[in-house]
Amino acid sequence: MTTEHSLRQRIRDCYEQPFFDLITQAHQLHVAHHPKNEVQLATLSNIKSGLCPEDCSYCPQSARYNTGIDTWQLPSEDEIRQQVQEAKANGSSRFCMGAAWRTPPKKDFSKVLDLVRVVVNEGMEACVTLGMIDAEQAHGLKEAGLTAYNHNIDTAPSHYKDVITTRTIDDRLETLNHVGSAGLQICCGGILGLGETLEQRMEFIETLCQMEHPPASVPINCLVPVEGTPLADTKPVDPFELVRTIATVRLFLPKARVRLSAGRLSLSDEAQALCFYAGANSMFSGEKLLTTANNELSDDMVLIDKLNLSIQQPTCPLPREISLERLSEPVAGSVVAV
Ligand code: SF4
Repeated sequence: MTTEHSLRQRIRDCYEQPFFDLITQAHQLHVAHHPKNEVQLATLSNIKSGLCPEDCSYCPQSARYNTGIDTWQLPSEDEIRQQVQEAKANGSSRFCMGAAWRTPPKKDFSKVLDLVRVVVNEGMEACVTLGMIDAEQAHGLKEAGLTAYNHNIDTAPSHYKDVITTRTIDDRLETLNHVGSAGLQICCGGILGLGETLEQRMEFIETLCQMEHPPASVPINCLVPVEGTPLADTKPVDPFELVRTIATVRLFLPKARVRLSAGRLSLSDEAQALCFYAGANSMFSGEKLLTTANNELSDDMVLIDKLNLSIQQPTCPLPREISLERLSEPVAGSVVAV
């Protein structure tokens, strides 16, 4: 039996054990490595929407699918500054910017570096997701003050070509190596519900564990089927499978932040609570995740309060106290996110 097989089998044994045994073990490891009862809020801004040449079969931003989304190009520094200040006032400590590119065009890359500097100057952790980048671009982002680069492997290597044909998993891993070698944190996870088998889901977790530079944060998304994409009619992920996946990731990557990402809107409060118990300690806050709807901030604050969670503080002090009264009002504007 190869080491690889042993790791896969251990992941599967862990995932398939009785549910309460699994989440109890994951919770114990979680509190051994992370502050108890704490959640990080991250805000995601869509800085360049749509017209992407890639064919990711889950994504409404691909130019190949007719999904009717709004498209736009990069915002100004002032627009981003305003979004960052609003995100920070609403409790986010990380500001992520996503652009629908296969790889960032030269003419736009220096503008992105300026946007990263805006985020950093406002005292927030900065993260970007720009598609494939080379070593020089990774170093440029590091010099601009970027904290983390998001580049999801999406799914198991053996399922990759069924989901995306315009690049390979090796292309993905190459960018992740550039990011890690430049000293940037890696944010890397995937999407459940892309038609993968259980074994492929285990392979996806195994791939995360075997990355040359281990991910500092792992976004776990559930597919949000969008009309016009090839996966529009896909069956939703069972929330218990999501909880099992989060718990298993927590057990095999104990130090990583596990981020509850797309698909949270379809979860009940109780299912979200199980996710936090099983090891999720970060989530996206904001009305939209790039193009799909996300939970209302005021609902999130009520849930955070019910669960007695505290919000992880930004690296610099919040301008004012986060209060439930204020957050129960509708949030001004719409910060567009993953
Ligand atoms: S997921 Fe990213 S790379 Fe794939 S089509 Fe959407 S924007 Fe493009």
